[in-house]
Amino acid sequence: MPKTIIVSNRLPVKLSQEGEEFILKTSEGGLATGLGSIYKQDGNIWVGWPGTAVETDEQRFQVTQKLQEENLYPVFLSQEQVNNFYEGFSNETLWPVFHYMATYAKFEQVFWKSYVQVNRLFAAAVMENIEDDDTVWVHDYQLLLVPSFLRELKPNLSIGFFNHIPFPSFEIFRLIPWRRQLIHGILGADLIGFHTYDDVRHFLSTVTHLSGYRSSANVISLEGRSVVVESFPMGIDDKKFSSAIADKKVQENIGTLQKMFGETKMILSIDRLDYSKGIIQRLHAFELLLSEQGDFKEKVSLYMIVVPSRDTVPQYKELRDQIDKLVGNINAKYRTISWVPIHYFYQSAPFEMLAALYHFAHICLVTPMRDGMNLVCKEYVASRVNNDGMLILSEMAGAAKELVDAWIVNPNNVHEISEAIYVALKMPLDEQERRMRQLRYVVEKFNINSWVRNFMNRLKEVKQMQESMQAKRLNSDKEQQIRSTYTERKRRVFFLDYDGTLVDFHTNIYLAKPDKELYGLLKELSSDPANKVVLISGRNYQTLQEWLGDLQMDMIAEHGAWTKFHGDDWKSIPGLTDDWKKDVLQVLNTYTDRTPGSFIEEKAFSLVWHFRRTDEGLGELRANELTNNLKYLVSDRGLQILQGNKVIEVKNAEINKGKAVAAWVMENQPDMIIAIGDDYTDEDIFKTLAEDAITIKVGSNISAAKYFLHSYRDVRRFLATLAKTSTATQSI
Ligand code: UDP
Repeated sequence: MPKTIIVSNRLPVKLSQEGEEFILKTSEGGLATGLGSIYKQDGNIWVGWPGTAVETDEQRFQVTQKLQEENLYPVFLSQEQVNNFYEGFSNETLWPVFHYMATYAKFEQVFWKSYVQVNRLFAAAVMENIEDDDTVWVHDYQLLLVPSFLRELKPNLSIGFFNHIPFPSFEIFRLIPWRRQLIHGILGADLIGFHTYDDVRHFLSTVTHLSGYRSSANVISLEGRSVVVESFPMGIDDKKFSSAIADKKVQENIGTLQKMFGETKMILSIDRLDYSKGIIQRLHAFELLLSEQGDFKEKVSLYMIVVPSRDTVPQYKELRDQIDKLVGNINAKYRTISWVPIHYFYQSAPFEMLAALYHFAHICLVTPMRDGMNLVCKEYVASRVNNDGMLILSEMAGAAKELVDAWIVNPNNVHEISEAIYVALKMPLDEQERRMRQLRYVVEKFNINSWVRNFMNRLKEVKQMQESMQAKRLNSDKEQQIRSTYTERKRRVFFLDYDGTLVDFHTNIYLAKPDKELYGLLKELSSDPANKVVLISGRNYQTLQEWLGDLQMDMIAEHGAWTKFHGDDWKSIPGLTDDWKKDVLQVLNTYTDRTPGSFIEEKAFSLVWHFRRTDEGLGELRANELTNNLKYLVSDRGLQILQGNKVIEVKNAEINKGKAVAAWVMENQPDMIIAIGDDYTDEDIFKTLAEDAITIKVGSNISAAKYFLHSYRDVRRFLATLAKTSTATQSI
């Protein structure tokens, strides 16, 4: 039975050594619980680093055996790899850049080399466990290269990738010297998930800027594979928190807190030590409240837990010192004999204490500068079984996109945070309840299990979509069938589009001239007396004439406005007018003046606005504006607007490639038709032709064509084999 392999930097266990013996303690974190529904099933595995240095082969063997009982499989790392791959590239390069703290980032070649090496180790560990129909789900920023390493080794594998931290805008991501390799690495996956739609947008824009791949909505078309990018906001194990109130130890802790705080209201703040968490700003905001709202002295305290983390990294150590100092100053300045403003703990708390704090706190203050999701705020909400309490949440946390009934603040604005605390302290109970009910609904509905389910279901759908595309790929069996029909028929016609079908796109349209190979291929095909080759393009007839006029081909230019039968002159469709061009040109000119890199191409019966050389994104924006603008101008004038590949074209509505092909077929009555094209104007050809025509779409967008080929290179290869087939038959 096909299995699922989870891959993450850390295994969901804590490994410790007692004498000679290694002890495993499984993690109770939300992700481990959610993914437990997968990896604990028979046959499935979780691959990752056990988190502790295991030196000797014998010890490694012992640990591997122990882990195997829990469906876990280790990747052992040396101390040097931990330093360079984990603490180095992951935490000192990617973490700061992805959290918009690029000035903290170190770009060290040794870190990068180790990152590549360790990602290969992870891919190799997966390969040791994999079979053909298995699914792999790779997690997080430490393993960005693993999807493509796996793809290289197993091209048909179903691979999902989820990024647990924010994905920055292209302007930030581009700072990383190895940005292209990283993007290529992630694109090895079939489904790429982020917490928020903003992350999705940033990723798509980064891909189109850096890779040259095209994306349509949230689908990126690679050669031969479509990759889907979507947001899956991660949830928590809500029941664990809502039911904790029944636990005896939790009750005891709540009792202690009640005694400790009495009538004083408690504001809770829980984070890992990290500069992305906005801890300093939060302390300033609390101090502002105390200094400006004297009434609250002795009536409110901040209970702040900072969980130790990465304190070997200089910035973290510095941050810790800053927090220590600031807390000391505030407490020294404001404390009284019976009241401490800030209860500060630089230590982690056991679950029973966390649950008690969540149940007890009047306010939960979560104000990160950047956070992929932030789970603390969701845990607070899940714990509020009486529907009271207030959540103050930073707009920079992924969770803010879902928890819209929280009091949302800008974490840089200490005045706003201070005011928010004031409002929250004064908030009437019914308003607290209204908000908390809504919040609880979201946290319960989109919990960790639904997150896992949604991601895995979507991954299955993406694979099915790819497979149905694959079924339409022109593979060698189908090519063989086409060749055998080809040898039997004597009145064959090829309708061939030009740009994107026979040649690649070029930023300068006049440089897409046929090369020697293409010229030779068209010559060979068209010189077979059983073949007619009809080039059917949107280009103007002068260019086609100049480039290919001396071949024995028929040519159709400007989508059908002009036709030339071999040996004859170019003729246009009778009755076409161009008296509309002046008005349209005026509009196009204003857009060209406003949009650097764009230009207008004028043909006899159409006008084209090109934006291939325009800044990514700006071109699309202007094209949408232009289309809206043109709609009013073209109505009632028998014109049509076409949105093509980096072009907007205005032309007479009665001209289309489909009509031109139908007329040609009617006149020449071929006994075999092969039509190949790459864009929506070619769809008219595919739809016009009879069922038995061989219609082929280049690319992977939805199409009326029967078959697909990846690129113009495959088209050339396919045509070349047919040209050879023909010669072979004739020589028999
Ligand atoms: N947490 C913990 N022990 C503590 C304090 C917090 O296990 O003493 C947990 C908390 O319950 C939450 C996680 O640490 O599940 C923090 O996750 P979050 O997404 O808020 O921040 P991250 O540390 O992942 O950036």
